[in-house]
Amino acid sequence: MSSSPNPYPNLLKPLDLGFTTLKNRIIMGSMHMGLEYTEKPFEEMAAFFVERAKGGTSLIVTGGISPNEAGLLGPGAEKLTTQEEVEQHKTLTQPVKAAGAKIVMQVLHTGRYAKHDEPLAPSAIPTHIVKHKPREMTAEEVEQTITDFVNCAQLAKQAGYDGVEIMGSEGYLLTQFLNRRTNQRSDQWGGSYQNRMRLPIEIVKKTRQAVGDDFIIMFRLSALDLVEDGSTAEETIELALELEKAGVNLMDTGIGWHEAGIPTIAYMVPRGAFSWSVGRIAEKLSIPIIATNRINTPEIAEQIIASGQAAVVSLARPMLADPDFANKAAQGEGNKINRCIACNQACLDFVFAYPPKVASCLVNPRAARETQYDYTATRSAKHFAVVGAGAAGLSFAVTAARIGHQVTIYEASDKIGGLLNLAASIPGKEEFKELPSYYAAQIDHPAITLKTSHRVTADELIAGNYDGVIIATGVTPRAAGITGEDHPSVVNYMDVLDKKVAIGKKVAVIGAGGIGHDVAEYLSHGGPSASTSTENFNTHWGIDTSPTAVGGLSTQPLPAPEISRQITLLQRTPGMMGKTLGRTTGWVLKYELKTHQVNMVSGVQYDRIDDAGLHYTLDNQSHTLAVDNIVICAGQLSEDSLYEQIKQAGVEAHLIGGADVAAELDARRAIEQGERLAISYQ
Ligand code: FAD
Ligand code: NAP
Ligand code: SF4
Repeated sequence: MSSSPNPYPNLLKPLDLGFTTLKNRIIMGSMHMGLEYTEKPFEEMAAFFVERAKGGTSLIVTGGISPNEAGLLGPGAEKLTTQEEVEQHKTLTQPVKAAGAKIVMQVLHTGRYAKHDEPLAPSAIPTHIVKHKPREMTAEEVEQTITDFVNCAQLAKQAGYDGVEIMGSEGYLLTQFLNRRTNQRSDQWGGSYQNRMRLPIEIVKKTRQAVGDDFIIMFRLSALDLVEDGSTAEETIELALELEKAGVNLMDTGIGWHEAGIPTIAYMVPRGAFSWSVGRIAEKLSIPIIATNRINTPEIAEQIIASGQAAVVSLARPMLADPDFANKAAQGEGNKINRCIACNQACLDFVFAYPPKVASCLVNPRAARETQYDYTATRSAKHFAVVGAGAAGLSFAVTAARIGHQVTIYEASDKIGGLLNLAASIPGKEEFKELPSYYAAQIDHPAITLKTSHRVTADELIAGNYDGVIIATGVTPRAAGITGEDHPSVVNYMDVLDKKVAIGKKVAVIGAGGIGHDVAEYLSHGGPSASTSTENFNTHWGIDTSPTAVGGLSTQPLPAPEISRQITLLQRTPGMMGKTLGRTTGWVLKYELKTHQVNMVSGVQYDRIDDAGLHYTLDNQSHTLAVDNIVICAGQLSEDSLYEQIKQAGVEAHLIGGADVAAELDARRAIEQGERLAISYQ
């Protein structure tokens, strides 16, 4: 434990809510993890929550629980409407409270966002993000919904929750009632803003009457809608004040509807990018307010609270990345926090996969798998050599040392991180550098020896008498096999991103997988990326910070980006490009390439490369792209040459990461494989 003075005095200060106190200002925001689809959902959820409670989090908000059938996220989703369900929920509340945290249940009615056959909404206006058109609720159904919310909150109290969070952001039912975009009713629930606010306010008032004063009522308010015909800040503040009067004692916030065309949590969003929108509500409220979205370090959290923009921070994905976030901050070990890099690859992309998968975390594969990963100390300590300090090798080394093994890591280059360093060079993906930085802090461990600038040979490894050798040597770029590929204009993506080669103004990128798209993005940028500051981000995406801006959107045309190069991205497969990109981030990358006028050509056959450029055939017609450079991003080959030599010498060897499987190589798989292999040596 560090003896230095507390670097986060505001973040770690208790918060007195009158009848109860939060021990610090770090809460875990609501996340739908998909654990309800596992064999033992409540057991898995309890293990998941308890780990975060033990990690020092002051308050945990559950995933959304519906107050009735219509409000369900989809078939099989969780609701709380019966005594039997109360008993199940007790299995969550009791252990979490015993572990020292408060637990609040989120009551979520999805309205027109429901993924079942019969969604209900204020008006019958469909959304492109779900299949079924909603039916307009009758006045009786609106009244019944109030009763259902109140009933659900009462049952939550019986189940032992410290409070409820009434979900009123992200475009779900209550947000749908608040906005003309989705509410075109002519009865007392539609029309004027007073009428549109009526449903959330009635729900809060009646819930407060039913649950009494010694129960937390949080309301998750949309601080910024980021959709056309959304609320203005003036309206949102009016609503917040009314909700406070109605009985809310802790105001949570959310940013953007799910259908918003602006990224709100992905890696290209600057840290704390939306706290200004919370700050302007905080100024008017007497109750504490919570900031959210892209708060992934104790430094940014401290800054938001110290500046008065919020009293509390809500971390959702950062709690997947590191359940001990709060304890590490309290112990002055902020540098040891495993930071969420906002990739969405194992959390949201899993939840939105078809069929959906239980969410987890790229940097922490144990997240929501707590019952599967056991870090009990080994009874048979070994000494391993790890070859390659990329994601796979580092993950193995850190976990092996954690359970009591000795590890010597050999790394050919002068720094750790491998390809993660190249990923971090892509504009907007700067967060990827957090992973090597986290591992640097973790490998500062007495059981780990790191040898950089050391390209180890098989002979050296064999002579080392290791109990096992872990080959995590990554990949080499694959040649495309095009006639003339040895032409001086041709370069591979690693040399481009490593800045080993100068690239001209006209470029062809061969291969449109994740790396081809990233390389096109890298080459298309003339100036700093929009992710470098909130100001740049707001200008780039047309966010208007004035209090009268409808939905927080600017009415001015978006500024045209500087076009620094003429880029053509090509693939052989016909049809839409970018199909392999992340479900929740790929659209942003494609949008960026479009605005930078990157020309996309699919269905090509490459003919040859020569002084005239790249020759290809498309729809039986020959074309020549006169370019200065051709960048090959045609996938990779495993760099596994050491493996057979080591095996043949009778030494136990394992291949992990890209060295094992180069196809669809990604850091998530590399880290999970390293960690699982290490714990298999218990
Ligand atoms: P590497 O990272 O390649 O590490 C291998 C290491 O072994 C290297 O450091 C190398 O120097 C060392 N080595 C090799 N031979 C020897 C030897 N004989 N002796 C000592 N050391 C040796 N993944 C994602 O999940 N999401 C993304 O968005 C993403 N974006 C990317 C963008 C780009 C531009 C690139 C290039 C990659 C991206 N990746 C992404 C892929 C991700 O970074 C890799 O999948 C992951 O880091 C692979 O890890 P690895 O440990 O298997 O290999
Ligand atoms: P990839 O996704 O497999 O893409 C390789 C590309 O090369 C394909 O577009 C393929 O398209 C083309 N190709 C393959 N063989 C070729 C050949 N002989 N000649 C010409 N073209 C050829 O691999 P990657 O782009 O290297 O990415 C690796 C992994 O890294 C990804 O799967 C992903 O997990 C991760 N990653 C993700 C992101 C992201 O989501 N933003 C970014 C970077 C990396 P055709 O066969 O159609 O021509
Ligand atoms: Fe964060 Fe990526 Fe982990 Fe999701 S998968 S929690 S975005 S690091």
